[in-house]
Amino acid sequence: MSIVVLQLPDVKRKSENRPKKCPYCQGEIFQRWGKVRKPVRDNRYRTIQVYRYRCCHCRRTFRHYPPGVDRADQTQRLRKLAAILWVLGMSLRSVQLALLAFNIELSHMSVWRDMQEQADLLKKRRQWQGVRVLGVDGAYPLLKGKKVPTLIALDLGTGQPVAVGQVDEANPEAVKRFLEPLIQRLGVSVIVTDDLNSYRKVAGKLGVEQQVCQFHVRRWVGLALHELKQTLPQEWLWVLDEIKRLLAELPLEGSRRLFELWKQVPEKRTGQAGDRSPLEKLRYILIRMSEHWASYRVFDWQKDVPWTNNGTEQAIGRMKMRSRTVRGYKSWDGMEAALLLAGSWLAW
Ligand SMILES: [Zn+2]
Repeated sequence: MSIVVLQLPDVKRKSENRPKKCPYCQGEIFQRWGKVRKPVRDNRYRTIQVYRYRCCHCRRTFRHYPPGVDRADQTQRLRKLAAILWVLGMSLRSVQLALLAFNIELSHMSVWRDMQEQADLLKKRRQWQGVRVLGVDGAYPLLKGKKVPTLIALDLGTGQPVAVGQVDEANPEAVKRFLEPLIQRLGVSVIVTDDLNSYRKVAGKLGVEQQVCQFHVRRWVGLALHELKQTLPQEWLWVLDEIKRLLAELPLEGSRRLFELWKQVPEKRTGQAGDRSPLEKLRYILIRMSEHWASYRVFDWQKDVPWTNNGTEQAIGRMKMRSRTVRGYKSWDGMEAALLLAGSWLAW
């Protein structure tokens, strides 16, 4: 995990410079037009000084705030601090109490809004940074007591989430709508996913390489082989060992080898109508693995591609654990913000 550096915005009690442009007309010449004391909520200052200016061009007046201060009554520093305390593991009400110990009064709803503001800032910044390898995985966080199908996309270079969407991962159209703008904007060249068909379709349509998480593949193949071991005619058991070996070694020629095995296994149906016989099941595994083989081993020739989607799953685990301290999300936006910020740890 990356090193966490707490970076809080600086707050000044008064401006050290004059405004550069009029916020209304972009004029550049001003008269000082008095000053006001502005009460602020901050961990250091109670009030700060704001100069007012009048634009010589449009004659309107405006306030010129010092660094770290804007129209809000909380300084930018306090807003970020409140969000950080939340990300560190405190509930909204504990953040409220902790700040009260330093004589800073903030309602728990203000803490909630601070958290959402930081998530928005984060989202905007992440929108434009380059991501080469994107991990994508589904999750089902609770919103008003109901599980919401959610897709989370993570930069596997930095381990930071880049987007959270209300998307059912089994629906290829929805997955495409979510991933297409991300892939184009971020310049993604590889996605790392589990073995769902929807991801495969979308990767093909969007022209990105897909690395399929090998833990997922080993799991479903392992289960299928285990079942076949009991049911398959003795003379074909060697094929199971061959599949296991290929999966363990992931050789380049694996696809061709599996295809050859598929041709060797007889096609004829032995079970009752509708039921797949063990030999047919074996053929299905062989052809599916042969066709998907390339997506099992992208990591072998593409730099910085992991061979499992573990990184994404772990980050999602952290996000869910952290955002669980918010009881009863009222809106999707709130939940999205919580997940995004929680997954970002403190790197924003
Ligand atoms: Zn003006």
